[in-house]
Amino acid sequence: MEIIVSDKAGFCFGVKRAIQTAYDTAHQTEGEVATLGPLIHNPQVVSRLKEMKVRPVEGLDELRGNTLIIRSHGVPKEVIDDAERRGVRVINATCPFVKKAQNYASLLQQEGYRVVIVGDKRHPEVRGILAYAAGSALVAEDARDLDLLGKVSRIGVVAQTTTTLERFQRVVQRCVELAGEVKVYNTICDATSIRQREAEEIAGRVDVMLVLGGKNSGNTTRLAELCRSTGTPTYHIETSAEIDPLWVQGAQKVGITAGASTPQWIIADVVAFLRRLSGVGP
Ligand code: SF4
Repeated sequence: MEIIVSDKAGFCFGVKRAIQTAYDTAHQTEGEVATLGPLIHNPQVVSRLKEMKVRPVEGLDELRGNTLIIRSHGVPKEVIDDAERRGVRVINATCPFVKKAQNYASLLQQEGYRVVIVGDKRHPEVRGILAYAAGSALVAEDARDLDLLGKVSRIGVVAQTTTTLERFQRVVQRCVELAGEVKVYNTICDATSIRQREAEEIAGRVDVMLVLGGKNSGNTTRLAELCRSTGTPTYHIETSAEIDPLWVQGAQKVGITAGASTPQWIIADVVAFLRRLSGVGP
């Protein structure tokens, strides 16, 4: 069995940066360090961080220490202001690319555009960007959501960093039909689109595709959807423990990719598991 692992599988720049920030902060801090929500969407990494006394909290009232890390998704600015008012030390690990989307949303709102954010309504990154547009933006999961806009003359568009280019284009196209003036900032992160393209390309030439990452990770779920759309049987798993040997029975080539919050050790473990299954590993 040939195992093809995507070069772009696993941690992206922003996640690496957030994890390193958490490790550094844990080493320099006595007592507990909190992250607002899980630092990344990967339960295995989150539980490793817990061993280092880095724990997720759902709100500021749950803080047990005095240090709070803002994860790469970012948060509404009011959350940081509130924490600082309470005397909490805030370490902001918002990914610079997410920060860019926040800043453009704010700028568009100030310039008088009706802001449209292309992304998932419930995603924390989108909720953060929404707050930077003073809460008046519309979140479009797809072009039909723009039917809610009503009459509007100027639309400004930004994207959730992990949305797909196709979805972004569909929404922008609809905006052009609706408004006389449309200003577009493509804030899709390259890490995502490059990973997506490579995953699709690999999925197109293997018998089975494994997509590794948290079941609660939006970017991993989208990777799995893209791979599945090539017609190749695709399985979204968190660890090698979920692999059913029947999935890869008789497969000549198995492809592997992983979401932005999947650590290298999980990828290596899945490769080792497949090698053992095919009788070439220890
Ligand atoms: S996917 Fe891109 S925007 Fe999101 S955290 Fe990673 S580098 Fe930053």
